[in-house]
Amino acid sequence: MTLTAHAPASTGTPSPDLLDFSGVTMRFDTGTVALEDVDLTVRRGEFVTVVGPSGCGKSTLLRIASGLETATAGTASVSTDRIGYVFQDATLLPWRTVQRNVELLAELNGQSSQERQGKAAAAIELVGLTGFESSLPKQLSGGMRMRTSLARSLTLDPELFLFDEPFGALDEITRERLNDELLRLFVEQQFAGLFITHSVSEAVYLSTRVVVMSGRPGHIVKTFDVPFPMPRDPDIRYSAEFGELVGEVSHALREGHR
Ligand code: ADP
Repeated sequence: MTLTAHAPASTGTPSPDLLDFSGVTMRFDTGTVALEDVDLTVRRGEFVTVVGPSGCGKSTLLRIASGLETATAGTASVSTDRIGYVFQDATLLPWRTVQRNVELLAELNGQSSQERQGKAAAAIELVGLTGFESSLPKQLSGGMRMRTSLARSLTLDPELFLFDEPFGALDEITRERLNDELLRLFVEQQFAGLFITHSVSEAVYLSTRVVVMSGRPGHIVKTFDVPFPMPRDPDIRYSAEFGELVGEVSHALREGHR
């Protein structure tokens, strides 16, 4: 198994595939097989969401995509080194302000203070947190903490954005609002997304493609192309076609979990 992470060539047309998994299997030393023979591609312009039961290997999939974990069989190619990663927990440093938290990744990347301050200000504006730069994480709502986490990754100008159930702990209204914000960022910033969620309606609303995984060992049981255009109309959530697709994905999820 190889994880090839290299920046796209600066000349010519960049490869449309940002992530290409072929036959990816993950067996931990404990003997647990988390993933089995997973084929998955994420191309530029795509927002792919993976739904599956707890423990089926979704986080493991993202960890392999980010290079944090190495698959035990198959090939996992990622053709960019500009990868954003947002977790369920906002993982902010409690003693740092919003501004200083957002600057963190740029700081670790060795950018000058002027450069990272400019990037952080732009990212804070993108996620709608202008005015809260001096706030500490404990002074923010859950949704605002997640916006801060998003802004921190945006400073890396990611080509591939990995999301591990980022909105799972938020109330329904906040989650819907952040879904809309995320779609706006997807359209404006043109990153490709690989998103994990338990919520089928969130998956259908956000995605250009929904991938359904089975129970452990996780493998892909079905893939659905989502036909609704981007930018996505928030009212699509209440349409019959949307409800129908949510029903089909839920059905595949139940079948794969047997
Ligand atoms: P999901 O994100 O779908 O809930 P995970 O990818 O977190 O699932 O985990 C898949 C399976 O692999 C689980 O049974 C989990 O306990 C196991 N697992 C995850 N990481 C490790 C590890 N580092 N060592 C051993 N087992 C692990």
